[in-house]
Amino acid sequence: MTQYVYRFGGGVSDGGKGDKNLLGGKGANLAEMASIGLPVPPGFTISTEMCATYYDEGEQFPQGLRDEVANGIAHIEQVTGKTFGDAADPLLVSVRSGARVSMPGMMDTVLNLGLNDQTVEGLAAASGDARFAWDSYRRFIQMYADVVLELDHGNFEEALEITKEDRGFYLDTELSADDLKALVDEYKSLVEEEWGKPFPQDVHDQLWGAVGAVFGSWQSERAKVYRRLNDIPASWGTAVNVQAMVFGNMGDTSATGVAFTRDPAKGDRAYYGEFLINAQGEDVVAGIRTPQYLTTAAREEAGAKPAAMEEAMPEVYGELAAVFDRLETHYRDMQDIEFTVERGKLWMLQTRSGKRTAKAALKIAVDMANEGLITRDEAILRVDPSALDQLLHPTLDPDATRDVLTKGLPASPGAASGTVVFDADTAERAAADGQSVILVRTETSPEDIHGMHAAKGILTARGGMTSHAAVVARGMGRPCVSGAGTLSIDAKAKVFRVGTREVKEGETITIDGATGEVMYGAVATIQPELSGDFGTLMEWADVIRRLKVRANAETPGDCSTAREFGAEGVGLCRTEHMFFDAARITAVRQMILASDEAGRRAALDKLLPEQRRDFAEILEVMAGLPVTIRLLDPPLHEFLPHEEAEFEEVATAAGVDIEVLKRRAAELHEFNPMLGHRGCRLGVTYPEIYEMQARAIFEAALDVAEKSGDAPIPEVMIPLVATKRELDLMKAVVDKAAETVFTERGKRIEYLVGTMIELPRAALRAGEIAEAGEFFSFGTNDLTQTTLGVSRDDASRFLGAYVEQGIYARDPFVTLDIEGVGELVKMAAERGRATRPDIKLGICGEHGGDPASIAFCEEVGLDYVSASPYRVPIARLAAAQAALRARG
Ligand code: PEP
Ligand code: MG
Repeated sequence: MTQYVYRFGGGVSDGGKGDKNLLGGKGANLAEMASIGLPVPPGFTISTEMCATYYDEGEQFPQGLRDEVANGIAHIEQVTGKTFGDAADPLLVSVRSGARVSMPGMMDTVLNLGLNDQTVEGLAAASGDARFAWDSYRRFIQMYADVVLELDHGNFEEALEITKEDRGFYLDTELSADDLKALVDEYKSLVEEEWGKPFPQDVHDQLWGAVGAVFGSWQSERAKVYRRLNDIPASWGTAVNVQAMVFGNMGDTSATGVAFTRDPAKGDRAYYGEFLINAQGEDVVAGIRTPQYLTTAAREEAGAKPAAMEEAMPEVYGELAAVFDRLETHYRDMQDIEFTVERGKLWMLQTRSGKRTAKAALKIAVDMANEGLITRDEAILRVDPSALDQLLHPTLDPDATRDVLTKGLPASPGAASGTVVFDADTAERAAADGQSVILVRTETSPEDIHGMHAAKGILTARGGMTSHAAVVARGMGRPCVSGAGTLSIDAKAKVFRVGTREVKEGETITIDGATGEVMYGAVATIQPELSGDFGTLMEWADVIRRLKVRANAETPGDCSTAREFGAEGVGLCRTEHMFFDAARITAVRQMILASDEAGRRAALDKLLPEQRRDFAEILEVMAGLPVTIRLLDPPLHEFLPHEEAEFEEVATAAGVDIEVLKRRAAELHEFNPMLGHRGCRLGVTYPEIYEMQARAIFEAALDVAEKSGDAPIPEVMIPLVATKRELDLMKAVVDKAAETVFTERGKRIEYLVGTMIELPRAALRAGEIAEAGEFFSFGTNDLTQTTLGVSRDDASRFLGAYVEQGIYARDPFVTLDIEGVGELVKMAAERGRATRPDIKLGICGEHGGDPASIAFCEEVGLDYVSASPYRVPIARLAAAQAALRARG
């Protein structure tokens, strides 16, 4: 029979840290902590397998589970010496979710379960604290009504607020036992009114209700959104953790807190966290009371007054610090910890690998390798390449003028400017329209997650460094300033105020997630610093990786950025972008609209010197490195004039009647330009275009060789080839241009002619195409488009639904469809190599910067990947990780 319940605590551990898939992260780590002798309140975990069974059986629990849970409760009773439902000294439990990976705030929790009208009296007597007992009961009813009964929690909050107002109180802690008792009565009436039945008094009914609610929350909308954004399969399910309650709200020797063993924002080696005296766990993240610092150093640095834990509870703090060290050495990673102190006794409620910013991830990985805690290889594998994105983005220019509105907490680094919006839906809509927005909220909740994702940055008025906004923004890599307390937000009127100033929806602000500053208007930014830990990890990665990394770049500026980021060449220089330049577009149009070769040549003569200059600049920046220059590729109509004035300009330049031009433009119209007159088809029909481009390349290369003495090796690339004959013809054009230039100049240089593999036919016929081509570069954007028969330009309208329904696991234009397109790449590589063993193989579609696709490129043994300049470091790290994983 399948085992569904796993116990921990009191010297028992049915599971351990290796059981994350089965017990969820929280359950596995509770069992692990218990097994290494840390103080963990006893409990049990219902496995993630049960979650699937629960849904398979129409949201019912099998009988076997009931027996196992009864044993689990008996285990807790035995360790605590208390009995579940006992009127004299009741056992209370918490019921929490816990999936394989943490999904902060996505699923539900119920605390203080086991309280009813009798046991609350027992708790009051046993604890000697009636106020505490009634406060626990009212919290329990409120949470249970919200999470399990799904009643409107606003009514409960309102009742609490009214009670406080009536008494003239500000804090919940000011309410007396009698106040709370009255509130409990009111809560119970509210439940009965809304639910139609009295609040459940049977503690076992309470337990099963909560277990069902936790499993149910796996399918909540917000959990589904989170899973989609984080590629978490629905099949994983969540586990349920039932654990003896310990109380941080039993007076001034009790406390609750969250901590990281290192700074999760900067990565510094210092304990980092927040705690609240006389509070329950949820109070720390709720942002109602401002938490206190853990360490004296952090308190002093922040200039805060309330005592740090190190000062207020020095003994327990010492114990806690020892646990931090123990956990870090045990897990060999930075830990994110939840703890409670109950009347001076420390209890560990959770540990897990802490989420961290990219900056912290880098620093922690490099530091831990230097400390000898992990190896360099492990350090390389510890950093998520995509997260480097956060570091490669600009930060605020320190010299730029700033109109600072206010300052909050530096919750997630990076600078972002955008127009202010006040709700998640507006953020999502505006972002879809191409606007940069800053989402401004009093505090965020899991319902805001789509808006946070759409926003460039997040600003909240409430909440600490571990608030929902801060945690989620860090995970997403969005800059975030949280807890900007002077901000008063009127979301209905779509305005926020700071002092006398007012900012309305649609006005621009800038936030700096590294300092917490909030500024009016857009502030200038500067490029990121690429030395330090970043440089170190990159060096380690470069030693490991086999794949070379090049950049897709077509301006000297892009090329120098690419070099700074460590590119080892240009893998794709798209020459068409050069044609859009205002100074040239008329000549380009004249070329396209010419009715014969002579007309085209006249226009091409004007373009030649410009192209030569383009190439010379690029080849100079990339001196000594390979540069793949692709000859003209896009559908010609992209260059056509639209406005009357544009036609007039071309007519004057070419000396042709405007009506003739318009007729010619109409002739060039295509129904399906992506599959039309583009790629090498342009070269086949108008070889003089490729001839001009080839001439420009060789003249530029010779100029640079003469000037610098370092001859570049141009790689001339023919796009959208389907047949060997196309490549033969185009190669002949290029070779002839080369010979002509070399003869004219009396000097030769080396060069290569190769092709893109962008069409299934080219992949199929790669064996013979390699007879002509000296290199292949996989243009996986087009190869995906043509293999899937999905238009690159229109895919976004329906691909979302495809990914949601699991037809493709990920967007195939982002992550290579390995089964389909990948099969073609693999086959073409094999066939190409069979013909020409030393053929150079690379990839230059967008996939060249995507870590999962890079792993595939390593597997099939390509020579290089080429990515946009900002993704070059991502590719370097991903390539190193791929190499390490390939070695096993
Ligand atoms: C490709 O198709 O993958 C490619 C790199 O070319 P482009 O995106 O310019 O069509
Ligand atoms: Mg292409």
